[in-house]
Amino acid sequence: MFNKTDFIPFSGILCQERAVEFLRRVISRGKIPHAYLFAGIPGIGKTTAALALTGAINCQQQIEGEGCAQCPSCRQIASGNFPDLHMIEPDGQNIKIEQIRELNRILGFKPLSGKYRVSIIRQAETMTEEAANSLLKILEEPPQNNILILNVTEPQALFPTIVSRCQKILFRPIPVQAIADWLIVQQAMEKEEATALARISEGSLGRAIRMCDEGFFEMREEFLSDLMQLPNLTLEQTLDKALQYARKDKKGAGETGNTGANLFELLSIWKSWYRDLLFVKLKCPSHLLINVDFSRKLQNISRHTNIESLMESFFILDQSQRDLLQNRNLDLLIENAFLSLRRLA
Ligand SMILES: [Zn+2]
Repeated sequence: MFNKTDFIPFSGILCQERAVEFLRRVISRGKIPHAYLFAGIPGIGKTTAALALTGAINCQQQIEGEGCAQCPSCRQIASGNFPDLHMIEPDGQNIKIEQIRELNRILGFKPLSGKYRVSIIRQAETMTEEAANSLLKILEEPPQNNILILNVTEPQALFPTIVSRCQKILFRPIPVQAIADWLIVQQAMEKEEATALARISEGSLGRAIRMCDEGFFEMREEFLSDLMQLPNLTLEQTLDKALQYARKDKKGAGETGNTGANLFELLSIWKSWYRDLLFVKLKCPSHLLINVDFSRKLQNISRHTNIESLMESFFILDQSQRDLLQNRNLDLLIENAFLSLRRLA
């Protein structure tokens, strides 16, 4: 969402009323804490809210606690050219000490705009221990007119000493219906497809948008057809297929710095498939399916399955996703998942 060149004010952030209301109140009182912790899963508006905050406090003609979207500051924020906005993202797997040293150097100067400098640290949990210690020193003696915003999925993944120095704001997963409605209006998507994508994105609008941009429906088709083929493969072919996926993923990671993103989607889609098969097997109403647009196919396949192996397959995928997030050995992880699913199919 950060790449869009429209300025998104607080009022444009989907379903984060509490977080947004809190930020607005702080701004209207004029007592802005020097450090925030924005906590919640990726893709639910943490960076967008950080940018809306940057706009609101730097706007040259603030309107009711919001950036105006028109003035040079707001326009620069939207296009990523605002001189007092400093964004830190993982360099490869981690945020490194050099990045925090650079931040410290920048903080030594007064904000160029004369108002506030905002530094946003995305995926702050990826900081190395050295980087985190270095950041802690900054938080102990924050320079004036600077605001630090740490974005994090799980605050527990940070040093408690860092967490305690930040004002914590929780961002909640977005309801499926709100994401589906957004996709129908903004991306002109059909209702069934929008619902399927909204459900699979698990409350993350950012993920739904990314999946849509990456051709989610073609990707799902390909992933599911590979899953169907799994029982027909020899042991060697299965391992080959698993490594193909792992390699493709590593190649993509070089460009996006997002190791495991493609594999994560693969595991997600396969998991949703087993979940749906279980639902069909247990005769749950079809409007509860994730892959609603495949309900007939699911009905047909479920006849040749049993509940125990469906559940086991689901849990294997769920565990593999967790392991992937922990940066376990990618090749080994995916090989194991493929072999287990093949055995159960
Ligand atoms: Zn403005």
